[in-house]
Amino acid sequence: MFETTVAGSLPKPAWLAEPERLWPAWRLEGRALEQGKLDATILAVKLQEDAGIDIVSDGEQARTHFVHGFLANLDGIDFARKTVIGIRADRYKAEVPTVTGPIRRRGSVHAAEARAARAHTRRKLKFTLPGPMTIADTIADEHYRDRAKLAFAFAEVLNEEARELAALGVDVVQFDEPAFNVYMREVADWGVAALERAALELSCKKAVHICYGYGIKANIDWKGTLGSQWRQYEETFPVLARSSIDQVSLECRNSRVPIELIALLKGKDVLLGAIDVASNAIETPEEVADTIRRALAFVAPEKLFPCTNCGMAPMPSSVAYAKLAALAAGAELVRKSM
Ligand code: ZN
Repeated sequence: MFETTVAGSLPKPAWLAEPERLWPAWRLEGRALEQGKLDATILAVKLQEDAGIDIVSDGEQARTHFVHGFLANLDGIDFARKTVIGIRADRYKAEVPTVTGPIRRRGSVHAAEARAARAHTRRKLKFTLPGPMTIADTIADEHYRDRAKLAFAFAEVLNEEARELAALGVDVVQFDEPAFNVYMREVADWGVAALERAALELSCKKAVHICYGYGIKANIDWKGTLGSQWRQYEETFPVLARSSIDQVSLECRNSRVPIELIALLKGKDVLLGAIDVASNAIETPEEVADTIRRALAFVAPEKLFPCTNCGMAPMPSSVAYAKLAALAAGAELVRKSM
């Protein structure tokens, strides 16, 4: 009960990439970089184990960014053709590559680090991929010229990758869909359908992570405009509850999400964000326990998985792992008291 896990990314070691950056530059190159990515993956797994995390992740150590890391091994994308676009409904600008032809997977994208992680932990292993709607929102398109078609094209290659990860022994594949908190109508129209296409016939657990973004200024400013209650989940959760997705990872700690909205996820596993990634203040185990207990009024204990609000990539490493230790300790407090 209360198996702990992480939303996804973790800080990279300073010998691998610039620390505390969302789009860090690599500090190695060539074969040293490839080996360094695997070493960092194994290190991230071990540090999560030491912190007491039950379902560990690869920590996204082998990718510069959670979206563009996946795109690197696909045909149909011109990386030299960069366009600056406003993403997440123009919340912030990003320089993105351009889709210029049919999307196809050239081969494995993440198999090497999945193998490395699997070989070095006996715990359950989770692997994250960007969700189809979020990819479609983070790229320029001169080929499909239709957001839903573009998302389904990505869903097909995501599914190929996800099946390969499951075959390598990954226990949970999670698709990250921060765009689900932005384009509410499209989520119901085609976003969840594209997500289900990406997760089609997966033999492992299928998760989706929906958050209010990393703790960067553009996101913090945006959150300030959302009012006293963040009710975006109210529209998406009922659609997800009817879907084939098993688990939903959501933001809770220090957010203005009304906790009762998680009752809308009836039947699904709830990955409850009990750690704030926008603040370096380290939660106490009691604070984590309090977040879990508040959620227990709306979700069965066997369906509740204490988690972080979002990825931790841009945080100082010492802070991130201290927060994970607090997460595990908080879950243990609740376990003992039941
Ligand atoms: Zn997130």
